Amino acid sequence: MTDARPAAVIVLAAGEGKRMKSATPKVLHRMCGRTLLGHVLAAIEPLQPERLLVVLGHERPMVEKFLAEAAPHAQVVVQEEQLGTGHAARVALEAVPDLTGTVLVMHGDTPLFTTEHLDTPLDFDAAVKAGSMNGTSAVQIFDEDDCVVHAVLKWSEFFKHESCGKCTPCREGTYWYVGVYERLEAGLGTEEDIDTLVDLSDNILGRSFCALGDGATSSVTSSINYFRDEYLAHVEGQGCPFGGARELAGAH
Ligand code: SF4
Repeated sequence: MTDARPAAVIVLAAGEGKRMKSATPKVLHRMCGRTLLGHVLAAIEPLQPERLLVVLGHERPMVEKFLAEAAPHAQVVVQEEQLGTGHAARVALEAVPDLTGTVLVMHGDTPLFTTEHLDTPLDFDAAVKAGSMNGTSAVQIFDEDDCVVHAVLKWSEFFKHESCGKCTPCREGTYWYVGVYERLEAGLGTEEDIDTLVDLSDNILGRSFCALGDGATSSVTSSINYFRDEYLAHVEGQGCPFGGARELAGAH
């Protein structure tokens, strides 16, 4: 993370979240004892931005009420019509025409990011340089009680299921990912299993016909990079140190 204070952080909180099929606005759903928006605000706090802009739209009064307590210093920007992420960011920028300097837009990426990555610019080159990628709108937030190994097992199961089987690295690699993660969760894993996961990733990345294969590797390699200690805890403690994985909630 750079030392410079961002000129502004824009939080996009106007979406309806239709797929959640809930009367509660998406950003006010609670996870790990906090609303989704609360998690985002907490992650931003160490950055001490000069301005905090929160774009609201769907069920604005409810979200605004929450915001008045959680971040009274935030500037509310209204997106009258929910016309997508780019439009929401534009509405926010138009509300502060005098703004100069670094602007951070919170975004969700497939590979894991931590607080130190929060000021990664939202462009393809910067995300790749930080070991991630752009192109997905999925956002999942975890606290310190969530098991990273379990989370990656769930994502790997998804990729294994979705693999069409046309090319060997993706078909076999995702199959082996799931097997290794299940072993780690069951307390049968060894330190060599972590090397196996890295090795498998090397053999899938860039060797698959489509992006699904590459995508399957990103959460594996980034989680080993940033949370290797959790993998080792599974090996040394012969099982999940979180006392069995709880259901992981996600937001899209
Ligand atoms: S990488 Fe794409 S083409 Fe190859 S098996 Fe996976 S899904 Fe099929």
